Amino acid sequence: MASLETNKIDVQKFHDEIEKYPMLCQSCGMCEAVCPSGAIKISQNPYSQFVPYLDIDKCIGCTKCIKACPVRENMYKSTSVIGPYYKIFLAKSTTKEDVENGSSGGVITALTQYGLDKGIFDEVLTQTSKDFKVISTPQYIKETRKESGSKYISAPLCSVFDRKKCNVVATALPCQAKAIKKQNTDTFIMGLFCSKLSLEDLAKYVAKKNKRKYEDIKKITYRRGNWPGKFKMEFVDTSKNIEENLNRSQFNAAYNSYNFSCSGCLLCDDYFAESADISFGDPWGKKQYVDGYIGETVVIVRTKRGMEFVEKAIEDNAISVSEIDLLDVIRGHLKEIYNKKTALLQRINTFEKESNAMKDYDKKVLIDIKNFKILNKYSIHNNWKRRVNTKKYNRMMKSSMKVMFFVRFSHAFLLSKRLKNSKNLQHYFNVALEEKIEREK
Ligand SMILES: Cc1cc2nc3c(=O)[nH]c(=O)nc-3n(C[C@H](O)[C@H](O)[C@H](O)COP(=O)(O)OP(=O)(O)OC[C@H]3O[C@@H](n4cnc5c(N)ncnc54)[C@H](O)[C@@H]3O)c2cc1C
Ligand code: SF4
Ligand code: SF4
Ligand code: SF4
Repeated sequence: MASLETNKIDVQKFHDEIEKYPMLCQSCGMCEAVCPSGAIKISQNPYSQFVPYLDIDKCIGCTKCIKACPVRENMYKSTSVIGPYYKIFLAKSTTKEDVENGSSGGVITALTQYGLDKGIFDEVLTQTSKDFKVISTPQYIKETRKESGSKYISAPLCSVFDRKKCNVVATALPCQAKAIKKQNTDTFIMGLFCSKLSLEDLAKYVAKKNKRKYEDIKKITYRRGNWPGKFKMEFVDTSKNIEENLNRSQFNAAYNSYNFSCSGCLLCDDYFAESADISFGDPWGKKQYVDGYIGETVVIVRTKRGMEFVEKAIEDNAISVSEIDLLDVIRGHLKEIYNKKTALLQRINTFEKESNAMKDYDKKVLIDIKNFKILNKYSIHNNWKRRVNTKKYNRMMKSSMKVMFFVRFSHAFLLSKRLKNSKNLQHYFNVALEEKIEREK
């Protein structure tokens, strides 16, 4: 057995590597929650990313923080692009308020509230608007209707995770879902599809671009109303509020440019929240921006208990459902699938030239398209080390918009070519099917 001192050396090394390469941290916050001696505090680094800070004098060398981290190993060996599942469908809350306030069809809100009302869950761990200005507050709550909607700026959800709590449901991004799953509790996980998460710098950038003071921001609402919703940044002086259609908003353009993404997202292999009981996302591709379309949620049910829960909710009319084809889901999310399952391979390869911290990650599950290097080069170049500097960001944004156009086009083109080649498509389906059968045994 390793001695305490050897463990402490490993722990120090683990945290030093994160300090040097913040992309080794996905800001989930779980290391703080599991540390028995209060040696870890999650706070923002100079690039406003939430990372752990270690006080080695308080550390007792238990290595729980290392074991809890979801980053350096892949938990599932699934090569299916959507992960294991029982059923996929489109859904909508039957409560009008949920659909209007929710990001897609208000289904997470409807289901979490249904679970609380029926006594299936006692509490919900989620990102709340308590103290909310720009960064949301992770918290256990007993009423979810006030909290609907996606919060696109990073906050360490799992830093408040309490493994002693029972009958709990968590709404979690894929990295947070993995960290929760690793804790082996009975926490029910409602996972959100996720391409990336942004840092606080994004709000600073949007405020500055609009000649508003960042300090005067009162509240940000990312998506409200008809799908995909409106972005609203409210200020102390309400006449200065910014309200735009999400698709045409500066926020969305900057968000999708990757310039403000949490660097940990660059080493992320999970888009569909594969370790959740149920995963939720937008109906991209399937539904275009039609005026008056109020929104629906793509739902992937992955576990038996997830299936039983959803069936009850449908029976009790908490949500209404309709069919969606797996192929439509894959088509609608091609770019993100490509980014997580293929372009990641090049990013890890590039990263390995710098450090061997990802040595235990099994790259075999990633899909190898060797000659696609643009996203890899582009993302690493822009995210490795950076600070808030509007001039620099303006320049980066201009060039990145051009690059993103090309990247998106190439992603869609390359992957749709792959998918048209039925051998690959068949492969995805077969793996998904095998996992489904495996779970049903
Ligand atoms: C950062 C982020 C990135 C996303 N990226 C994609 C994407 O690329 N493609 C896609 O199809 N969908 C993505 N989603 C999911 C999508 O935006 C919707 O959340 C999803 O479709 C569910 O919609 P809904 O109306 O059913 O949920 P709602 O009824 O609106 O409920 C959302 C629930 O999630 C909780 N929540 C909000 N933000 C967070 C957060 N940051 N961490 C944990 N819990 C949170 C809320 O508190 C609420 O309980 C993303 C969501 C987030 C937060
Ligand atoms: S090794 Fe244990 S005590 Fe030390 S920082 Fe990690 S979790 Fe805390
Ligand atoms: S990813 Fe989570 S567990 Fe790992 S170092 Fe970052 S905050 Fe800690
Ligand atoms: S992209 Fe991955 S690492 Fe980044 S927030 Fe989403 S799930 Fe977490």
